[in-house]
Amino acid sequence: RAKQMQRGTAQYFSAEMGVDARERFKLLKGLRASFEARRLFVVYQPQVDLATRQAIAVEALLRWRTEDGQFVPPDQFIPLAEQSGLIVAIGEFVLRTSCHQIKRLRDLGHAQLRMAVNISMAQFRHPRFISTLQAALRDAELEGNALELEITESMAMDDLDMVLHMLAEIRATGATVAIDDFGTGFSSLSQLRQLQVERLKIDRTFVNESSTAAGSTIAGMVVNLGHTLGMRVIAEGIETEEQAQQLLALGCQEGQGYLFARPMPSELLEGWLANAKSA
Ligand code: C2E
Ligand code: MG
Ligand code: MG
Ligand code: MG
Repeated sequence: RAKQMQRGTAQYFSAEMGVDARERFKLLKGLRASFEARRLFVVYQPQVDLATRQAIAVEALLRWRTEDGQFVPPDQFIPLAEQSGLIVAIGEFVLRTSCHQIKRLRDLGHAQLRMAVNISMAQFRHPRFISTLQAALRDAELEGNALELEITESMAMDDLDMVLHMLAEIRATGATVAIDDFGTGFSSLSQLRQLQVERLKIDRTFVNESSTAAGSTIAGMVVNLGHTLGMRVIAEGIETEEQAQQLLALGCQEGQGYLFARPMPSELLEGWLANAKSA
């Protein structure tokens, strides 16, 4: 009986934690080693104007290929990096790498193209975040307006004074801000209004379900909400032409997803942009 209960408890804990603690520790050790060995790299996924299909930006997405050639998805290792604090150093690497990349693309003639970079909570709350951002821009000789920082809805809904202060500091560098995965968290509309960020990203869940009544209603509500608050709205995870058309009909101006392009390494990005129309 006691054994049974223990077993039940163990099951309960492992389900709660997803991967078990030892497994996560091993993964974190591997991540740290890979980061130090420079085996982490950044891929880029275009964001397009839905009406013209012009590329307006690219989003930097981190990739980890382990020594034996396996890819570990960000959804698995980013949370670990966050919990351990390693994300601060890794995030700086992503920021610096993508600043250099967008500088190069702008110099190649994509003068209006922007780079979107995901910022995690631990980075955002780190006292040196703004000076890291300034240094990354300065070292790449990049104008701030080339950069858009993607923060999640829950980060944006954190302590209002702190968030307003951070957004003001970010704005002072010229960089813009997007709220990522919008619709999956709990937003205070009054707080959202005060933030005055440039962009809302409709979470992929609603794009996926945009053929259903509920999905398209939610997507439409997010579009209207964003526009009412003076924001631009982008939909992520667009995989089909039908989804693109539907979002366009709902008034969504921008999109990102496999329909347009998959995330790709920098070597392929230049060619893709050269063939596509871009800003
Ligand atoms: P996210 O910021 O919402 O990024 C979009 C995710 O959707 C990416 O997954 C992208 O590959 C995927 N995606 C794009 N188009 C489609 C599509 O049409 N269909 C489907 N099914 N998926 C699509 P990825 O690269 O696996 O990244 C997952 C998450 O990990 C990101 O979600 C972001 O939250 C986080 N992440 C990735 N790179 C970084 C980073 O450098 N720093 C931080 N803090 N987080 C990152
Ligand atoms: Mg993102
Ligand atoms: Mg997203
Ligand atoms: Mg997402």
